[in-house]
Amino acid sequence: LPLKRQMTETMKKYLSPTIFQLLELIGEEAGYLSMRAYLIGGMVRDLMLERDNEDMDIVVEGDGISLALHLQKLYGGKVRKHDEFRTATWKHPSGFKVDLTSARTEYYDFPAALPKVELSTIKEDLYRRDFTINAMGICLNQEEFGELLDYFHGYEDLNKEKLRVLYNLSFVEDPTRILRAVRFESRFNFSMDEQTERLAVQSANNLLSVSKPRLSSELIRLFTEENASEGVKRMRELTLNKYLLTRPGDDEPVQKRIDCIYYWHSVFKEEGIAVNRSIWMAYMFSLTTGRVNDEVDLEGFCLTKEDVKTLNDLYNLLVSHQSRSIDPSLPIRDIHVNLATMKPEPLFGYFAIEFPDHNEKLFNYLLTREKLTRKVDGNDLKKLGLKPSPYFKEILLEVDIKQLENPETSKEKLIEWVSHKFLNK
Ligand code: ATP
Repeated sequence: LPLKRQMTETMKKYLSPTIFQLLELIGEEAGYLSMRAYLIGGMVRDLMLERDNEDMDIVVEGDGISLALHLQKLYGGKVRKHDEFRTATWKHPSGFKVDLTSARTEYYDFPAALPKVELSTIKEDLYRRDFTINAMGICLNQEEFGELLDYFHGYEDLNKEKLRVLYNLSFVEDPTRILRAVRFESRFNFSMDEQTERLAVQSANNLLSVSKPRLSSELIRLFTEENASEGVKRMRELTLNKYLLTRPGDDEPVQKRIDCIYYWHSVFKEEGIAVNRSIWMAYMFSLTTGRVNDEVDLEGFCLTKEDVKTLNDLYNLLVSHQSRSIDPSLPIRDIHVNLATMKPEPLFGYFAIEFPDHNEKLFNYLLTREKLTRKVDGNDLKKLGLKPSPYFKEILLEVDIKQLENPETSKEKLIEWVSHKFLNK
């Protein structure tokens, strides 16, 4: 970590030149309009941790919208305004986006000349934040460019790898910060300081009063973090689940499922196989008893169409589990005939819940299936002289099985096989 509290060199070193120049010119133009601009939050923290982050959050002492429009006039790009919050997003022609927020208080009647008042405005803004490591700012105005504002000792906490709230009622005021704490702990391998953890446990029941949309957005972020398994472990240790779910599952099976989903989710990512965001439904369901008669109560959560489909598919898979008689020891053909129409996201949940101890073959099947590019399609069948009909689907399923069993088979060989097997039927 850098020892000096002057951040210019660090910024030069770790930010892309375009971002660095953008920050410089924002500071200059803010000064021209007698405003002050500060880079705050995640990017400041990540600069010190030498982690990439391109989210430019700027707090302006003055009017963020006027500054955004001024920047657009001079340098082009687009501005999107949110009048009610006095915030704006400026999209620079280079493609980078900058969020400009007016420091909460005196944004309409800004006393330009009084440094004391100016400071207290940004200080107040920073005081409203979640953790000390997220409550630092860097001044962007020309004369003080690069100066670190660290009223709450975030720099020290960062060095100690601690998450600390800024005031005792922080979690009561906004209980989603508890989930944020868990997320940052697992991402950075930090831990809450003693007092913060105590407050988190004490305030956890306040999660019951948080709106479901806010909860879902924090949970999605938690499940898609670099270290989701660890995050879920902490959720259990802090006994958060009982305030999030109607029927939380027992610790051991829950953790095993989560570890499994997380492990394979990472493998799929490494292999470049996209799994969509609705996989959070698999994580969510895995936190419950996993029994379908104990339906997860997800009413009010912000579910997208895709989420609902994944949840329904998972639910149906679990309901029909007995009759499907899927068994990892079955040949690939039988597994595929049964599961071919199912998308990966519900299958992640299904495999983890129903096959906690032997799911490797099933996940490997899914991975091979998702990597597979069909070498033979309907047009190839037509070229062979087959008449388009619902029968095509069956033939193509057989071709898929052939490919799954032996991914190396060439297109020519597959066509030869099709014509041999199906042409005279
Ligand atoms: P990430 O890298 O996950 O984006 P971030 O710190 O940038 O991390 P955001 O959720 O984008 O997280 O929030 C940006 C900043 O806004 C944070 O650094 C923090 O200062 C503040 N913030 C966000 N959510 C809260 C909250 N619930 N309570 C207080 N401050 C918050």
